[in-house]
Formats: sequence, structure tokens, C-alpha cells
Amino acid sequence: MIMSRPKQLGSKEVYNISNLQTLLVQGCLESSKNPLWIIQKSDLGGRGLFARKRIHKGELILTNKPLAVGPRNSGPEISFCSYCYETSDEIKSCEKCGLLMCSKNCKVSQMHLEECKFISTYWKPKSNSRRILSILGRIRIYIQLFLLSSEKKEILLHLQHDSTSTFQELEAIFSSFHIPKEHIELMKTMHLILKINSFRIPSSNREKTIRLCGLYPLAAFLNHSCVPNTRNIFKNDKTMEIYASRDIEIGEEILSCYTSLIWCTPVRRYQLHISKNFWCKCSRCNDATEMGTKLSALKCFVRECAGALLPHKPLIATTEWCCDTCHAKVPVKQINFLQSIIGSLVRILSEEEEIEQQNVILKRLESFLPCYSYIFLDLDFKRALKLGYDWGTKLKELSESRLALKEKLCRGTLRTTAALGAGDAHLRGLLLYHLHAALAERARRSPDLYDELKSEIESTIDQAYNILQGDISAPPDLELRRRYLGPGCDKSQEERFFILDEKKNFVMCTQ
Ligand SMILES: [Zn+2]
Ligand SMILES: [Zn+2]
Ligand SMILES: [Zn+2]
Ligand SMILES: [Zn+2]
Repeated sequence: MIMSRPKQLGSKEVYNISNLQTLLVQGCLESSKNPLWIIQKSDLGGRGLFARKRIHKGELILTNKPLAVGPRNSGPEISFCSYCYETSDEIKSCEKCGLLMCSKNCKVSQMHLEECKFISTYWKPKSNSRRILSILGRIRIYIQLFLLSSEKKEILLHLQHDSTSTFQELEAIFSSFHIPKEHIELMKTMHLILKINSFRIPSSNREKTIRLCGLYPLAAFLNHSCVPNTRNIFKNDKTMEIYASRDIEIGEEILSCYTSLIWCTPVRRYQLHISKNFWCKCSRCNDATEMGTKLSALKCFVRECAGALLPHKPLIATTEWCCDTCHAKVPVKQINFLQSIIGSLVRILSEEEEIEQQNVILKRLESFLPCYSYIFLDLDFKRALKLGYDWGTKLKELSESRLALKEKLCRGTLRTTAALGAGDAHLRGLLLYHLHAALAERARRSPDLYDELKSEIESTIDQAYNILQGDISAPPDLELRRRYLGPGCDKSQEERFFILDEKKNFVMCTQ
């Protein structure tokens, strides 16, 4: 992310955009030497990536390997291998550097050997306790940045720094190791870069690993919009691919979304401010109704009015809120107070396991929020994905009414996300996959319905596949479903549905 001009580094002139373009093409471009993008000054501030020619929906815009990958700061205290990141209790620390390693293979990997040499040469632990050594693994992303080639280090220095961040997360390492002064200074700079430029990498659903983030030098130049025109997927080797989620015109800026698409404007803007240090002013943020979805609405305070309260000037944090029906005005103080109550109710709801208690909280939320509130959209989205895919109940075991509910939740959420104009976003792929799964399950239970449902069963999995294929967090049977239940399969109805038989499915998936 680039929101302002970077500091001048030494004697080097770093604003020269064509030099930067060359540096990025040489240093980061993995596949084509003829990129679809060009670096230009952006109206959003700083520089951004722009389309050099018309890019069609679904087209791969760029492939980007991370400069470094490491655990996310907020990870819980669990033991993990500092090379493959798998979690296990059987992990031993390397006697030379102290990094925790799960196996001989991880220990003799080229990457570990380099890191091992670096740590044992420069950083001396103040004691050998396991707690101290486990800190090393948590800051592994910094160690990787130290070991970059000088060309890649130069790219790093072009990325924007967060000027407001503190170094709390680094205190533990500074107090536990003797580290050369120049390394400490460099780590602080790296921290300011990582704070606003790193990407969360979704967890793979195949291995038990901790949550990771990565620094992607090209993707870091993508500016943000709450109505992005791209989606990103992460491959198993942590390479990021950025695809057009809708058609992008020549000269249009290529934009990514750093926050959740289904949150409402006040929540998205606040989160972007906290995590990325800027207040978004995109077209969606500037539209109080958010393309007619009214995601941020509260029920009007006037008893007999059925209208919705929405921010009068959504880009101004202190704006009063107005009813869209009776035009009553409410000062922001009252709105903030109500939102903090709603926030606590949502937190309690997420921890509550008793259905009856959940219903009590939902009723309370319904007294403040209209049915189209983002709070309900978010809950619907999570439930749509969870029903039949939870630890407790499999899709096959869902009652008829629950299966119908899954389908309804998928359709409703798909409608709202379509209205937001985000095109083929990642979450649309997930919802289409789950809508497909619900429809296919209905057809499995009542084979007579298949003819009626066939075209939708096929089109939903086909679209879901196009959006999610290759992503580390994609459903494991995505490809199999696409092959047997998608368009163009010449097998009989019975044969096509055999993949929903779990045992055979498992064998196919593991082959
Ligand atoms: Zn390992
Ligand atoms: Zn080592
Ligand atoms: Zn925005
Ligand atoms: Zn009203």
C-alpha cells in the first residue's frame, strides 16, 4: 500500500516511477515480461498499479512470490516448526540457532541453514530457556528480510512506512537477545513496512499449521477500494495470484480490498484506519446507502416510524444520522453508544453455544437493527458456510428445513454482495460452492428433482471453481465436484452423484 511519498533513502532518488517499474518487473515478475499493469501516480495518494490494456473478468493480472513469510503477530502460544509451520508437541530446538524444528528434513533445508548461520553469528540469546527460543520463530519474517538479496532489499525500501506504529511486538526479542544495534534499527524499519504492507495468508485446510502473513512486494502497490476490481488467491507455495473480479478498462486503477466486503462503512473505515492508517474515501464509503444495501442502518428511534437511520455525511466521523423516512436527526454520540451495545451483543453471541440463548440475543439485536443490517449479513454468511460443514453435522445429516435454510442464506448473501458490485470476489466463490452443495444434496435425496436442478447445480460449481481454483483454502472436493457435477460431464446421473458418497470421495481426493 502506498498512501504517501516514501522518505528519501540516502542519496538515492526513490520517486522515479519508471525506475521503480523496471525494478519491480525485474525483481518480482514471475511469469510474463510484458505486464498488464503499469505503476503510476494515483489519485488515492502515492502510486498505484494501473491497467495497461483492457483486462477481462477472470484474467490473471499478476503473480507475486512473497519476499518473506512468517507467523502473524496475534498467534496464540503454541509450538510450531519454524520452517514448515506445522504445529506439534514433538518439536525440538536446533542446537545451533535455537529455532524450533519438527524434523530432520526441515532442519537441513537450505532456508534453515542460511537462517541458522545468520542467527548463530549475530544474535546471542541471554538465556537458553525454551520460552526465549520460541520467540525467534515468531519473528521469522524479519530474519528472512535480513537475508534478502540487495536487489530485493531495495524494493523493500520503496514500500510505505507506517509512521504511527510502536515497536511493542519487538520488545520481547530485543530484551531476550544480544542483537547488534544496526540490526535493531533495521528491524524497526521492517516493522513499519510490515505493519501496513503485509497480507494475511489463509490457512490451508489440509495441514495443521499456524496462521501466516507474507510481504508481497508487487501486491503491496495495490491501493484499496471497498469495491475492488480484483481478488487474490494463495497457492500452496504461498505465491499470490491476483485476478480481475470484473472487467477493468484501460487506464483504470487496479484495486484490492484490505478489509471484509460485507462489513458496513463505519466498521470498514475504522478498521482500515486502525490497521492501515488511512480513512477510505471510495465511492462506496461516500454513499450512505452503500449501493442501496443500507448495511450500516439502525432502526429509526421514532416509535411509529419503520425507517432506517443512516449517516448524513458518511465520510465525516462526527456526522449526524438521519432517518430515510421521517427525516428525524440523531447526534453521532447516541449512535456510537448504541453501536457499542450492539458490538457487545455480537461478541456474546459469537461465544454463546446454547441456541435458546442465541435467540434471545438475536431478538435484542433485532430491536435495534433492520433485517438488512451488515450484522445479520455477516451472521448469514457464516451460517451459510457452516451448515453441513460443521464438526457436529455433515451435509447428509442436515434436516430438510436446515438444508433449505442453507440454500436460502446462500442466495440472500449472494444477492447483497452482487448489489455491492464486487463482481467475482472470493466470498462469492465460497457462497456459490455452498449453494451448489445444498442443491446437489437436495438432488441426491430426491433424484426426481435432478432434471429441474441440473442447470443450477452445474453452473454454480462451475463459477465457484473458476473463482476458487488453486487457492490454498479452497474446499478440498472443489475440483472433484466440478468434474462430476459441473457442465460437460458425460456420466449417468447415478455415476455423477457417486462422489457425494464420502468414502469414495475420500479415496478420489487423496489419489
Ligand atoms: Zn517442519
Ligand atoms: Zn539452526
Ligand atoms: Zn471505502
Ligand atoms: Zn424515522
